[in-house]
Amino acid sequence: MEKRYVLSIDQSTQGTKAVIFAADGRLVAKTARPHRQIIHDNGFVEHDGEEIMANVLAVIREVVELAGVDPAEVACLGISNQRETCIAWDRATHLPLYNAIVWQCSRAKDICADMVERDPAVADRVCELSGMNLSPYFSAGKMAWLVQNVPAVHDAAKAGTLALGTMDSWVLYALSEEHAFATEPSNASRTQLLDIATCTWSTELCDAFGVPLDALAEVRPSDSIFGHTTAGGLFEEPIPISGMLGDSQAALMGQGCLEPGQVKATYGTGSSIMMQAGSDLVRSKNGLVTSLGWEFCGHRSYVLEGNINYTGAVVSWMKDDARLIFDPTDAEACARRANPADRTYFVPAFTGLGAPYWDDGATAILTGVTRTTGHDEIVKAGLESIAYQIGDVVDAMRADTGLEVHELRVDGGPTANGYLMQFQADVTDVDVSVSSVAELSAAGAAFVAGHAAGVYDANAIFEQIERTTYAGQMNPHHRKLLLAGWRAAVRQAMCH
Ligand code: ADP
Repeated sequence: MEKRYVLSIDQSTQGTKAVIFAADGRLVAKTARPHRQIIHDNGFVEHDGEEIMANVLAVIREVVELAGVDPAEVACLGISNQRETCIAWDRATHLPLYNAIVWQCSRAKDICADMVERDPAVADRVCELSGMNLSPYFSAGKMAWLVQNVPAVHDAAKAGTLALGTMDSWVLYALSEEHAFATEPSNASRTQLLDIATCTWSTELCDAFGVPLDALAEVRPSDSIFGHTTAGGLFEEPIPISGMLGDSQAALMGQGCLEPGQVKATYGTGSSIMMQAGSDLVRSKNGLVTSLGWEFCGHRSYVLEGNINYTGAVVSWMKDDARLIFDPTDAEACARRANPADRTYFVPAFTGLGAPYWDDGATAILTGVTRTTGHDEIVKAGLESIAYQIGDVVDAMRADTGLEVHELRVDGGPTANGYLMQFQADVTDVDVSVSSVAELSAAGAAFVAGHAAGVYDANAIFEQIERTTYAGQMNPHHRKLLLAGWRAAVRQAMCH
C-alpha cells in the first residue's frame, strides 16, 4: 500500500495532539487529549509522564480512525513538544522515576542562586556556553533538582540506569520498539547543558549543575531516523520516527522560515518571536537568547528568540480584571472607535518586563492620558501594547544580526484581530502574514519527518498554507513619533 500520510504528534503543555498530513501537505485530521496539570501547594508544576504516553497512543489511534486512513498508508511519525520540561526515568524498568517537571516551574530557583553564590563567574559562563541566561526555567536546574531531591533518581544515577530527558526524548523512548534514547539540537539547546557552538553536551555545564552527563540522551540531527514504532500494535510494520523539534522551532519550520532573517511570531497568552539566523552562531547584545534551530538536511542553523509574558493576556486582563470588554473580540471594535490621535500608552509590566528589556522590577503603567481619553482609547492602548512589545523584539533581532526583516509570519488567537495586525505591520514596518493553518508546530514536525522518510521532496506543507497579508503603510515620520512615545513609556515603567 502506498505510504501517503505523515503522522505528527504535538506534545504541548496543556495536552497532546495528533495530526495527519497528506503527501501534498494538506491537513487531513487532528485530535487532542488534555492531561492533568499537577500543581502543588508550593507552586511546583508537574505532568505525569505515563499519562502523557497513554494520551500519545490514544490520539494516534483516534486520528488514524478519524482520517479514515489505513494504518498501512502512514509513512512515518514526527514529534513536536513543549520545550524545557524534563523527566527522569529508569532505563532498566523503562518507567518514570518522578513526574515531569514543567517549564513553568521555578523550583530550581535556589539551585541557580546557590550556583552564583558559590561562584559569581558562573552566570556569565553559563550564558556564554548555552546562549541563555542562567535560569530555573530551563531543564538543567530542574534536572539538578531531581538528582538532589529524589532518592530513586539518585540511586538510578549510581546504578548507571538513569535517563534525564526533555519530552521529545521521553516520547521517543516510550514509543519506540527499540527504546531509543536520543534528542536533537532544538530541544537539547533549551536544556542549558548544551555547548551551542559545538552542539555537544558541555562537561563544564553538567559539572556546574551537578547533572551526570552519562544520563543525557544522544544528540542526533533533527531529521534522523530516531527509532521505529507500532504505536501499541496499530501499525503492523513499525513506522520510522523520523523528525523531532521543540515546539517553537517546529512552528518556525511550519511557517517555512528557512532563510536567514525570516521571523515568526506566535501570539497567544504570551508570545514567542523567533528569527532564523542561519548557520553562524549569533550572540545577542540586545536582550535575546540564541538557540539551535535544528540540524536538517545536514545543515545546522541557529535562531534568535524573544519571549514576552503579556500579549494576548493583556486582552484577557482588560476583560476579566479591568472589565473594559466583555469578550476578546470586542477589543477590535473599541480600537477602531477610539480617537486615532489619542496618545495614551499602556505598558503591561505586570510581572516586570521580559525580552528585550529584562527588568524584573518594572511595573505596569498607563501614561499620556488626557481629558478626552476614554474607555475606547484605553482599550486601544492595551491592544497596541502587544504590537509595540513584539516590534521591539523584532528591532532587537534586526540590531543583533544586521539583517533586514520585511515580513512577520504570525499565528495564534489574537491574529484574528485585524486592527492589531495592521498596527503591527505599521509600527514594525513589515508585512504581517497570518497563516491559515493553526497547527504550525505539528506541521513543522511533520515536514521534517516526512522529508526524512522521502514523502516530501519539496515544500509540500508550506505550499498548503494560505496567508492573509497586512502591508505596513504608516508614514515613517508618524511611526517615529509613536515609537518615541512608546519608548518613553517603557522608560517610565522601568523607573523604580
Ligand atoms: P494560547 O495558546 O496561549 O492559549 P491562543 O492562541 O488561544 O493562546 O490566544 C488566546 C489569547 O488571545 C487570550 O489571551 C485572548 O485574550 C487573546 N485573544 C483571542 N482573540 C482575540 C482577539 N480577537 N483580539 C485580541 N486578543 C484576542
